[in-house]
Parts: sequence; C-alpha cells; structure tokens
Amino acid sequence: MANLPAKISLSALLILLVFSLSFLVQIQGSQQREFDYFALALQWPGTFCQRTRHCCSSNGCCRSNSPTEFTIHGLWPDYNDGTWPECCSRSSFNMKEISSLLGELQKYWPSLSCGSPSTCFGGRGVFWAHEWEKHGTCSSPVIHDEYTYFLTALNLYSKYNVTGILTEAGYVASNSEKYPLGGVISAIENAVGASPLLSCSHGAVEEISLCFYKDFKPRDCIKIDSASRADLLASRSSCPRYISLPIYVPLSLRNDTAAVPWLSEAQAL
Ligand code: 5GP
Repeated sequence: MANLPAKISLSALLILLVFSLSFLVQIQGSQQREFDYFALALQWPGTFCQRTRHCCSSNGCCRSNSPTEFTIHGLWPDYNDGTWPECCSRSSFNMKEISSLLGELQKYWPSLSCGSPSTCFGGRGVFWAHEWEKHGTCSSPVIHDEYTYFLTALNLYSKYNVTGILTEAGYVASNSEKYPLGGVISAIENAVGASPLLSCSHGAVEEISLCFYKDFKPRDCIKIDSASRADLLASRSSCPRYISLPIYVPLSLRNDTAAVPWLSEAQAL
C-alpha cells in the first residue's frame, strides 16, 4: 500500500510521455525546414508495367489506351542532401479541387499500379492523394494549394517533354536496342539546360527526374563540378552504361494475359 503514490506518479509520468510523443509526431510536419528545389519524377510505363501482376480499373497499365510516353510520378520538394520533407500539413486531398484537371491527370499522371497508397496521418487514398499529402503539402512557400500543385506539375511536364526530347535524339522505345546512358543524359541536358537523374530496373529506364529551382528554372538534379560529371551522374543513378527503353505491351495483347487477373478496387486494396 505504501508504494501506491509512487505507482500512480509513475503511471502519470508514462501517460504524459505518451501524450508528449504523439504531440511531437503531430507537429513534426509543420517543423520541417523549407525545401531546396523541386524534382519532377517521371516514370516509364514500358518498364513499370512489366511488374503488373493483376489489373483494376485505376491502373493505367491495364487500359487499352495505356500510356506510351513517360508519365508523371510526382512533383517533389527535395533537399540538396538527398532527403526530403514529407506530410507537411494536414491539408488532406480533395478530388473536387482538381476536377477541371481530371482529363489531363488521367492521361499524364495515371497510377501504374493497383491498390491505395498510404496518405499522411494513417489514411489511404488514390495515387494523387498520396502525392499531394506526402510531397505537395511540403511545397510551401512556392505552392500553397492542391490545384496549383497539380497544375504546376502538368505544365512542367508538357513544357519539358522528355519523351519528345529522347525521340528527337533517336532514343525510341525498343525491345532490342540499348542506348548509352551518357548519350541519354546529354540529350536531356542539351534540351532542358540541366542534368536529369535516371533510375533503372534490370537495366531498363524506370524513372527520369528533372529538377528545378523554386522559380521553376531548370537546375541540375545533383550539384557537381564538371570534372567527373559523367562518371558521377552514372554512379548516382541505378543504371548501367547501356540502358534499354522497353516498349509497353498492352496487357490485353500480352501472351500471358490469363496470368493477369482483374480485381475490383476493393479486392485490389
Ligand atoms: P512516392 O515514391 O511518391 O513517395 O510513393 C509512391 C506510392 O504510391 C507508393 O506507395 C506506390 O505503391 C504508390 N503508387 C501508386 N501508383 C503508383 C505509380 O504509378 N508509380 C509509383 N512509383 N508509385 C505508385
């Protein structure tokens, strides 16, 4: 009995600690420092869709008019040290705010997988909700609202048409050709005025990022001096010296279509 007050104060202390921790987690978002630059991450359906194991209506890989160009993954406010802020405010995604952009978003910013990615603070939602809540909310003080975030990404995407730039340079989708990584990087550098960042999966281009200052002028994705430029760019990407840009084969035309079952959105969760 004599220990009761000590036990009570220990429990009170524990409760206080738990409350303080959860409070800290909640305000963590608003305390993240301002980002340094924007990265516009683009994904290559020809590579990404090879991973499709089941279909659902929201998956761009499963459409009959599925994308044959790079599509948008996200517009990310990043730090120069390779990290990034995330989930910066409680501004949750609202489809109504981007209703006038839906046609373009479905075409140029489709999800290429099924299921609902996590949103901030424990929820789940569509791909766009994930991108806005995790990344978009951190683009303050440059972008303050959801509509401007999506519109800005679409505008950058069409202004710097990476698929067009590569086609112009002779780097077209192919299941037999391999292209020099340095050549692909140079083609984009020459057209955009800054170096991109590439990532690959099994030697195939999976993503290309373009980077921008806060006024949306292009900047190098990695800040480096020119001496070892090509080597460093290659070493920072997950790509080999020769890369492929596979053709996207619509799932409806694939020989193994039977192996790609259709799921309802609920089943795909
Ligand atoms: P991020 O890389 O933007 O932080 O996270 C992407 C999240 O969205 C992941 O949870 C991923 O499963 C989901 N997701 C849904 N559709 C796509 C897509 O088309 N591409 C990528 N990369 N992720 C997608």
